[in-house]
Amino acid sequence: MTMALETPGLLSLAAGFTDNQTLPTSFVRDIVERLTSAADKEYLQYGTNQGRIGLRRVLAERIQRMELELDPGQLAESTLITNGSQQALYLAIQVLCDPGDIVLVDRPSYFVFLEMLTGLGVSARSIPVDSAGKVDRAVFGHLLDGMKASGDADRLRAVYFVSHFSNPSGRSLSDSEKTDIAEALRDRDMTVPVIEDAAYRELYFTAPFESQSILSAPAWRDFPKFYTSTLTKPFATGLKVGFGVCSDRDWLNKMLYAKGHHDFGTANFNQAVLEQALQTGAFDQELKVVRAAYLKKRDALHQALLEQKLDQRGWSWALPTGGLYLWLRAPEGIDTGLEGEFCRACIANGVVYVPGELCFGDEPSRNFVRLSYGVLGEAALQEAGRRFGQVAQRFTP
Ligand code: PMP
Repeated sequence: MTMALETPGLLSLAAGFTDNQTLPTSFVRDIVERLTSAADKEYLQYGTNQGRIGLRRVLAERIQRMELELDPGQLAESTLITNGSQQALYLAIQVLCDPGDIVLVDRPSYFVFLEMLTGLGVSARSIPVDSAGKVDRAVFGHLLDGMKASGDADRLRAVYFVSHFSNPSGRSLSDSEKTDIAEALRDRDMTVPVIEDAAYRELYFTAPFESQSILSAPAWRDFPKFYTSTLTKPFATGLKVGFGVCSDRDWLNKMLYAKGHHDFGTANFNQAVLEQALQTGAFDQELKVVRAAYLKKRDALHQALLEQKLDQRGWSWALPTGGLYLWLRAPEGIDTGLEGEFCRACIANGVVYVPGELCFGDEPSRNFVRLSYGVLGEAALQEAGRRFGQVAQRFTP
């Protein structure tokens, strides 16, 4: 970090921030104008601990449009509005786990969630994947059997995964992968609470990734479920409003109790702005704008890496169809970690990235890199890609 701060002109492919150019200033101006013209000033008062009922209803209808079999009334009742979905994730783990407990996570996984587990003294166990990065049901089964035999299964409290356009890998979990996870657990009587993090579900470029969430997929029927997502990434991160839908009343009540201690309610004003954005269609209009912008930015970074011929030097990456990240695999033997020479060389060359090693719950791989195309504009992304590529060339001549 010190090195990064001391390097003027450093381009960051690390930050998970969103695009500045497309932030919805005029929508927000109109909404604030409308809110402040109304006689009722409730939006400037404290709201409720669970969150605005109007916002919960409009979110419930939105989820129901994606998954028709769900009942919007019930969804609204089971929804908790949080200060970003980060808080929803924290609440979920806070009330489920004690130090020494275990949570199963996807591989790779969202590093801030993994960090949080560490902070709470909880250990992560990765759901095994094959060489293509797909859930490996057979190996997962062996892992669970081993946990049963060793007694670790008694400390297993939850399973967590990022389902759409993952941070960091950009991949989405197919219905069959999700079913494999559920069935492997269920077959062993391990129906632990499941957390689906769908933060990027709506941030696809041209078409949604079709899959059923845990809320409606039959394989998860017997599990306590918590589905989280956010209104920050698709609209404005500065508003910091997320939500979770919990199928289990007892779990939800515990989270509401803990939320009362955190803040007794997410900022009511921010919720009111987002409620209006959703109700008036501004949210969907903004989504159209950002989807097109991120697609262009993905391509700008991808092209820059191709121009440096990284693909011919043993580097590989899949092109995501949504989200904010490219997940690069370096040739075996290149250590992209924080302490490694590669990372230092990138910073010295004016570009910074997230080392992949941070994104593994256990047994970290050292040769991955997460590049974000969220913040920088196209020209800056090309330059950042060029700088990254120059270093990569040096390490893989
Ligand atoms: N989940 C994932 C996978 C994320 O990438 C993020 C943001 N980086 C979050 C949750 C939390 O986002 P927020 O608190 O802004 O809703």
